[in-house]
Amino acid sequence: MLIAENIMRPPILNPLFASLAALPGIGPRLEKLFGRLLGREGEPPRIVDLLFHLPTGFVDRRNRPKLSEVPPDTVVTVAVRVEGHRPPPPNRPRAPYNIDTSDDTNTLTISYFNARRDYLEKLFPAGELRYVSGVATLYDGHLQMVHPDRVVDEAGFAKLPLIDPVYPLTEGLHPNQLRKAIELALERVPKNLSEWQDASWRKRNGFAGFADALRGVHRPQSPDDIKPESAAWSRLAYDELLAGQLALALLRAHQRTRAGRGSAAEGRLRARIIAALPYSLTPSQQSAVTDIVADLAQPARMLRLLHGDVGSGKTVVALLSAAHVIEAGRQAALMAPTEILARQHFATIAPLAASAGIRAAILTGRERGRERAEILAALSAGDIDLLVGTHALFQEEVAFRDLALAIVDEQHRFGVHQRLALARKGEAVDLLVLTATPIPRTLVLTYFGDMDVSALREKPAGRKKVDTRAIPLDRLGEVVDAVARALDEGRRVYWVCPLVEESELVDLAAAEERYAELKRRFGDVVDLVHGRMRGADKDRAMARFSAGETRLLVATTVIEVGVDVPEASVMVVEHAERFGLAQLHQLRGRIGRGAERSACLLLYKAPLGETAKARLAIMRETDDGFRIAEEDLRLRGEGDVLGTRQSGVPGFRIALLEVHGKFLTAARDDAALVLARDPKLSSPRGEALRHLLYLFARDEAIRLLGAG
Ligand code: ADP
Ligand code: MG
Repeated sequence: MLIAENIMRPPILNPLFASLAALPGIGPRLEKLFGRLLGREGEPPRIVDLLFHLPTGFVDRRNRPKLSEVPPDTVVTVAVRVEGHRPPPPNRPRAPYNIDTSDDTNTLTISYFNARRDYLEKLFPAGELRYVSGVATLYDGHLQMVHPDRVVDEAGFAKLPLIDPVYPLTEGLHPNQLRKAIELALERVPKNLSEWQDASWRKRNGFAGFADALRGVHRPQSPDDIKPESAAWSRLAYDELLAGQLALALLRAHQRTRAGRGSAAEGRLRARIIAALPYSLTPSQQSAVTDIVADLAQPARMLRLLHGDVGSGKTVVALLSAAHVIEAGRQAALMAPTEILARQHFATIAPLAASAGIRAAILTGRERGRERAEILAALSAGDIDLLVGTHALFQEEVAFRDLALAIVDEQHRFGVHQRLALARKGEAVDLLVLTATPIPRTLVLTYFGDMDVSALREKPAGRKKVDTRAIPLDRLGEVVDAVARALDEGRRVYWVCPLVEESELVDLAAAEERYAELKRRFGDVVDLVHGRMRGADKDRAMARFSAGETRLLVATTVIEVGVDVPEASVMVVEHAERFGLAQLHQLRGRIGRGAERSACLLLYKAPLGETAKARLAIMRETDDGFRIAEEDLRLRGEGDVLGTRQSGVPGFRIALLEVHGKFLTAARDDAALVLARDPKLSSPRGEALRHLLYLFARDEAIRLLGAG
């Protein structure tokens, strides 16, 4: 394994992949500390790992006053002459070791505790000039500096970084040890690495070469150099993003060569469905359908994400996409995360499908026995064109005659694993992923690479802004009174109780208690729907609410996705502080769908933490799902926006998505262009890009080149 790696890696990179232990002064103890610092415990930390360990701040040592002008308690760098040493008296060995110094304006006492005398005598030879940097304080009206950060002579001063980078550390590692190691590591950067970035791109952005950029971030000349926005840092971030995009593009090209069939159709079925719609498609629905249909006609495998805020009308786009492959004589599957959603999709789709002559069926855990056997038989015989369902679609016995298109709704509820399982139900199945959590562009690119994206940006006609308020739980009584007024006016109300993972049962108890309480006050119009109910009971509860037989629906978050009752115009969310931003947005999307003005009351338990406060403020401020998704990203950090951290998604060491995310598109296009011209990465730039892939540990992708 190791040997193979060494053979494949271009030798010019070897110095960068050498163990840190190869640097002078780094023995086993320091190597272990560096391993911990650089996230390489158990493996030897390498020089490249250290070079990619970037500063998080700096100490400004540029203030160089005369002693009489030194402001106390700030960092200064002063030039002083050493007058003499005052070691602690023998009877008080714990007293400080003082060194008297001066310039032509004042005196300064430099003090050390527990320092070795011979060391200090060498550092401060009597009568000589020294540059000392650190924080000076006033002690009894006298200027003092305890343990200066830096002490150098004239020659050392010439090299002293006045903007002194500060690095994340680990316990037991001294900043000076880290600094020294980085200096040594910088010297190991090969001088003659070929440039892998495009020349005009570099020029346009003012990017230095790789080695200079590394020096730029580790040896800043001004405070600006050390910011992530600096040209040096940005260059390295772009390198990292480019490596990631190139690896994804290689992977995709590799998959393409193994994919297979286009579906040809004129659009007859599509036209019939459109004719049957009670509305006309929005422009972005139209363009999404156009894009998808073009993909489906291609022999290459489609991998497309359809973003659309809650209620933006993804279902009909999905159906029109399915119609294309069905017209070509093949089959489609639409998979929803919950039983309720699958039924709702089916209810929407069935009449439209019927009007186009499409044979649609539903398969969930509830279709059993004869019914199930019949569906499965019809499916494998090709007598069902479109199968709607839940996870049940993955099961072993479910066999299609010729599955061409798999549509997965609310992607974040499915693991990648499950998506692939569905795709395997056919030959080179095209995949369309619908998501109502508008994943920010930056994240789509990092996680899916050049997965194509269609976005439904308009809200369907008639959508109104929901009046949103945050109210502390101790005003519950007022909220219940407001609900009473709404019910009097004949409105329909959702009352959402939170589900906390630790104990579904305890939460359920809370929801049941709330239900009982509201029922005592409002009587039979109150109903309860929760995750532990049987599917049929859930459906009945939803149907009663939808029909207006019940008008106050207490629910756990089972209503989170998809439910469509346009008459509902009030929502109360209990313990709103426990919900994520995307979740709150999805929930609120259940109302504001009809003619009435809608209100959303976010009940929270005071006091609110900073993040929860920010979340509720954003909810009050905006209903733009894309903005909310971006804010969510900001508040949560990038790791968690897809609901759970995706496994196998490599993190970034240098690029910060909030800052460098803007380079992602360029990196993606760059990678695509390179591969279009040089699919084997054999041109000079291709060779250089291989180096890049190694540097950022994306060399797995290089293997695909060999595998063809
Ligand atoms: P989502 O994107 O959340 O899945 P749906 O597909 O459930 O949204 O659509 C939400 C509602 O909007 C449905 O009632 C649907 O019939 C309606 N709808 C979809 N497209 C349009 C349109 N172009 N004009 C008006 N209403 C539409
Ligand atoms: Mg939907």
